Amino acid sequence: MATYDLVVIGTGPGGYVCAIRAAQLGMKVAVVEKNATLGGTCLNVGCMPSKALLHASEMFEEAGHSFAKMGVSVPAPKLDLPSMMNFKQQGIDGNVKGVEFLMKKNKIDVLNGKGKILGTGKVQVTGQGGASQMVETKNIVIATGSDVAQLKGIEIDEKRVVSSTGALSLEKVPSKLLVVGAGVIGLELGSVWRRLGTQVTVVEFLDRILPGMDGEIAKQFQRILEKQGFAFKLGAKVTGVNTSAAKLAATIEPAAGGSPETIEADVVLIAIGRVPYTEGLGLQEAGVILDNRGRVQIDHHFATNVPGVYAIGDVVAGPMLAHKAEDEGVAVAEILAGQAGHVNYDVIPGVVYTTPEVSSVGKTEEELKQAGAAYTVGKFPFTANGRSKVNQTTDGFVKILADAKTDRVLGVHIIGREAGEMIHEAAVLMEFGGSAEDLARTCHAHPTRSEAIKEAALAVGKRAIHM
Ligand SMILES: Cc1cc2nc3c(=O)[nH]c(=O)nc-3n(C[C@H](O)[C@H](O)[C@H](O)COP(=O)(O)OP(=O)(O)OC[C@H]3O[C@@H](n4cnc5c(N)ncnc54)[C@H](O)[C@@H]3O)c2cc1C
Repeated sequence: MATYDLVVIGTGPGGYVCAIRAAQLGMKVAVVEKNATLGGTCLNVGCMPSKALLHASEMFEEAGHSFAKMGVSVPAPKLDLPSMMNFKQQGIDGNVKGVEFLMKKNKIDVLNGKGKILGTGKVQVTGQGGASQMVETKNIVIATGSDVAQLKGIEIDEKRVVSSTGALSLEKVPSKLLVVGAGVIGLELGSVWRRLGTQVTVVEFLDRILPGMDGEIAKQFQRILEKQGFAFKLGAKVTGVNTSAAKLAATIEPAAGGSPETIEADVVLIAIGRVPYTEGLGLQEAGVILDNRGRVQIDHHFATNVPGVYAIGDVVAGPMLAHKAEDEGVAVAEILAGQAGHVNYDVIPGVVYTTPEVSSVGKTEEELKQAGAAYTVGKFPFTANGRSKVNQTTDGFVKILADAKTDRVLGVHIIGREAGEMIHEAAVLMEFGGSAEDLARTCHAHPTRSEAIKEAALAVGKRAIHM
């Protein structure tokens, strides 16, 4: 029987990063993966394919709508969807191969099959054909991720009623797409198909889009998306989808109750969130406790209640984000090596990769209000940023929330082009407990969009220069 210091179940960003860090620290490591390819949701059906399609569809839209005004005259672009899907697949393959290479480079054994925990130190791995092998290990890390949340009474066939996975592989551009859920995934994939010619309607149970993100940013984002052609039905729920005719008929009811209406669509995308995935892991038999939302319960050191069994990533509490999973992977490996692995959950950036992008780190204004915190706000619009003006990409603004007494930055929220790249200077500043004054006195290269961050920091002290 093979024996290891660490067996990681699942090779998403949490699992494979954990395995690499543990190997760097001298452990003998194996990963177990039930899918044919490594990389988990993120690389195969999540972050990476969605970003490939977002990029390609954005280029398609730019070529059709923005080139002419810059004096670049090209014929109207034609969509070749199979080639676009091929572009996406090449990106997936490249990244998946990269993880395979990293496993080899770090001498990590890859065990293909479904992992089941048989108690402390024992994992059974059952391959596709049913043959199983047993491995012994000092420690186990559960990194089995998440799966699509289903809507009661609506069956996902991944052809016409799709989850994000189906929406990343549609064979033709639907005329009408109904997106259920105005969260990050629904809005990103809605954007892809809208750019390619689809009429997109988004139904959201709450009275706002992007639940959890700063309300002011979300409001402006909604206005921008509406200008782009999105239609929103907020405070409404989809209660059924009739699939018997050529067109789907979705029944929509006001969330507060009232008479239903029907909306026709070619494709319905269910994007109401994701749920932890623990199926077949043997957690009940092994005695691993789950919380009331089905997530593996862990302490501050990622340890479950069963000695030697740890868990990270989407399968535990916290934001379901790849970089959160990665950082937890590093932290748990370091803890197992006797080091002080740690994740600062107050500084985890979140990005919506639409055009414009939305990014955020730290507290929202709503959270500060609810906590009764005294804070100051500094804002700066991209309409007043020179670089944005010359590029004619002036949608959006930067918003900085700082402690009213100490000036320490508590939250930064950006809507605008490249917001996903810009957020990191705020994250670094916050990791060091920096103030708005620190940000305002840091020299920023000109002309950059990042100067809007400096100006927003100046605005916290009511001394923005260009406004
Ligand atoms: C469409 C979409 C877009 C997204 N975009 C982003 C984004 O832009 N940025 C971002 O940060 N996050 C994004 N996410 C979320 C991100 O994908 C997840 O947060 C991340 O993948 C979680 O990593 P993980 O390692 O916890 O689990 P996963 O990536 O879900 O990996 C879990 C792995 O475990 C395997 N597994 C499960 N059970 C077993 C078992 N018993 N035995 C063996 N193997 C098993 C699975 O096959 C899978 O490979 C997106 C998600 C989706 C769906």
